[in-house]
Amino acid sequence: MQSRTTIACLCAIGLLATEASPFVRDRNPHAFVLAGERIRFDANLMPQFTDKQINESAEATRAGLAKWASTDHGRRFIARFNRDEYEVLITENWMEEGIGRAPQPGLATLVAASDHSKIKAYDLILNPTFNIPRSVVNVYPSRQPATPADQMAAAWAGEMLHIYFYSNGISLPHHQRADFQQEWHLMAAELGLPNMPHADDDE
Ligand SMILES: [Zn+2]
Repeated sequence: MQSRTTIACLCAIGLLATEASPFVRDRNPHAFVLAGERIRFDANLMPQFTDKQINESAEATRAGLAKWASTDHGRRFIARFNRDEYEVLITENWMEEGIGRAPQPGLATLVAASDHSKIKAYDLILNPTFNIPRSVVNVYPSRQPATPADQMAAAWAGEMLHIYFYSNGISLPHHQRADFQQEWHLMAAELGLPNMPHADDDE
């Protein structure tokens, strides 16, 4: 009898825990996920970070997203992926050799591209500590982002472009595609970097 009561109690707790509550952290955050929490956007699609996100992520990562969100392409991409059917899991790794990377998801995710009932998860890896050498920035100001926030804005733009292609079921390689390069140059120009290349070193 006692064990039956225990089982019943566990079930009740399980049910309660799935209820949306302001006091319980989002167990299964969707859309853009930073520090285990969904990134909230205001009506203008500007990010509104939580305390946890502010404490547990780099300033450049957040400033880069805000900068990208102030561009036309940034807003369009954010609107597209700020939905429950997507999960863009953002991680920071200062060991990365570049400013960012978006590894190709598994075949099942690529195939599910047009299935709105399936959650499509993508990894976005950023390196907010990566420093493009000052000497390079000075020589090519229209090619290379100067500040950490500018670098992260370019990383958000460039890697979300890969994820956009994945979300259309298009596997790598992307860099030599004319449509990829055309979109990249439009995005880079919006960030003040019309000549910034996006070529093979992150594929
Ligand atoms: Zn790339």
